[in-house]
Amino acid sequence: MKSTKMNLFAATVISLSLLASASSPAGGQTNQAGVTTRTGAAAQEPKSISITRSSSPPPQMREAENFTGSVGVEPLLEATAPSRLAGGRVTFAPGARTAWHSHPLGQTLIVTTGAGWVQQEGGEKQEVRVGDVVWTPPGVKHWHGATTTDRMTHIALTEQQPDGKRVEWMEKVSDAQYNAPAKVQVAPTPVRLSTTNSRPSARAMGDFAPKLAEITDDVLYADVWERPQLSRRDRSLVTVAALIALNRPDQLRSHITRARANGVSKEEVVETITQMAFYAGWPSAVTALGVAREVFQQQ
Ligand code: MN
Repeated sequence: MKSTKMNLFAATVISLSLLASASSPAGGQTNQAGVTTRTGAAAQEPKSISITRSSSPPPQMREAENFTGSVGVEPLLEATAPSRLAGGRVTFAPGARTAWHSHPLGQTLIVTTGAGWVQQEGGEKQEVRVGDVVWTPPGVKHWHGATTTDRMTHIALTEQQPDGKRVEWMEKVSDAQYNAPAKVQVAPTPVRLSTTNSRPSARAMGDFAPKLAEITDDVLYADVWERPQLSRRDRSLVTVAALIALNRPDQLRSHITRARANGVSKEEVVETITQMAFYAGWPSAVTALGVAREVFQQQ
């Protein structure tokens, strides 16, 4: 017991001196606070992995200060010295968004469900989807939230300053700002990850029928499919239903794949086919079932 304490003490002294020598050229203002925090952490924290179990009930959706609309906020991690990283999961109901704000040390967002928008001051609103990672540099004024039709959940990872500050809140995002058109073209920013998939028809038919590929990509997918009045998931369901009714297995194949990417489950595809049997006829439903089976077996 006594020797453990001595070791801890020795370790603290060593890390203090390392810290002092490492940070002295950079200037000492934050040094004092940093040293205090680090000493406390070294003395108290057991060196073992800590797991906070996932709480399954969905977050309570409510109005919150510095937000417009209904949001659910779940803290995930508090900054534990020497780390300054804090994180939380935020769910935005359709139409909900943060106020304008900035982060002194920047922020990373990871979109985990749905689709949302992010915008920095002076830039266009951009759509973000599941799996997208958004980095906002320090001091950049911005907002993030759901689209008008989709929920959006993101994990926000934010480093805090030694004084604990990690966000500077500003005015609310007006309806006019929120409803302004989103940027449609893939931007030269790290926000969109879909660059290689953004022109599917150009790859599929561009060499043979360039005009048809162009209007398919630029009008159908870049314009009509991006309109906010229907979510992509709903557009997928409508499209899949139409292709079942028309008995178009070739197009249905790619649209079931697209529907999956837009959040439609296998069970929902099968249920759509079952429903369509009554409206489009049994043979069309059976053909569609064969296509769906093929798609889901490949994945
Ligand atoms: Mn932010």
